[in-house]
Amino acid sequence: MGESPEQKFDRISRAVQDSILQNYPNPERRGCPGDDVVRDVAGRTHLEADELWEHITHCSPCYRVFLACKQEFRGKRIIHRRAAVGLLAAAIATIPIVVITRSRPAKHDVQIGDWNLETSALRGSDSGPDTVSQQRASRSRGFIRVHLPLGSEDGEYQMQIRKTEDGSALQATKGNAEIVNGHTVVSFPVDFSSLSAGAYIAAIGRGTRRWRVYPLLLS
Ligand SMILES: [Zn+2]
Repeated sequence: MGESPEQKFDRISRAVQDSILQNYPNPERRGCPGDDVVRDVAGRTHLEADELWEHITHCSPCYRVFLACKQEFRGKRIIHRRAAVGLLAAAIATIPIVVITRSRPAKHDVQIGDWNLETSALRGSDSGPDTVSQQRASRSRGFIRVHLPLGSEDGEYQMQIRKTEDGSALQATKGNAEIVNGHTVVSFPVDFSSLSAGAYIAAIGRGTRRWRVYPLLLS
């Protein structure tokens, strides 16, 4: 069981306190401002790293008085302490968020479609959808593996998901095609989870050249 943010805050606070209480004995009380002043500093509602604060955090006897006053004020100050715990909790909470964000691309490791367009005619979107059979994919996040028409060059390709052949792109993605044993293969990372089931158009192209369009069924 991991400790709560509050427990961690308390543990770190105690470690810092113990360190200050032990490391600055100052038996001659050199430079000490007096207990009343220390009490005033302990009663501050906001942290101020001035000379007094510097002294108190570098003088074990003054710090002991400071902690005693803090303890006394604890009831009145609990709101401020809670605010500090909240800040720390927020700082700790950002750590797993970063991890989650970084691990997200791993979800694209799931193949949700495998399209063979090798025998599709090499023609543009102005001549209607290719005669290849309808391509399929599931409405989820992952990647689509595409065998591009035979003879396609390698390099970067873009893919758009449209509702109609010449419609605007509902989604756009890109991938880097490689030629393996004469086959031009590209993987497009996609997330179809927000699209409703039904018929779409997958348009694949590169640069300013004409796009090729294929009927797509999402289910
Ligand atoms: Zn002192």
